[in-house]
Amino acid sequence: MTCKEAEQMIMPYINDELTDKELEAFLAHVYSCKSCYEELEIYYTLYAGLAQLDGENEGQDMHNLLQEALSVSEQRVRGRKLFNIYFGVSQVLAVAALAVIIMTEILRL
Ligand SMILES: [Zn+2]
Repeated sequence: MTCKEAEQMIMPYINDELTDKELEAFLAHVYSCKSCYEELEIYYTLYAGLAQLDGENEGQDMHNLLQEALSVSEQRVRGRKLFNIYFGVSQVLAVAALAVIIMTEILRL
């Protein structure tokens, strides 16, 4: 991902509009690119500051907000991966179980 692409994803990220795939690529970029991380931090702090005026996030430490949001995003990406692995494994198991059932039926004849 280029910095330009990452910059275009900052607002969708804050609005929680990225797909899991986009989110994963975006997180990987901001963690490895200091200038995009800082850009995100500025936007996020601004956004969180506006939300605070509305009474949301009251009493929260502004500096930790982005880090908290990023760790929630990471958990979402990781959770999605785990789910995909689990789903893949359970499908393989289901096919294997079916094969065993068919084999036993055939052997019985
Ligand atoms: Zn960048």
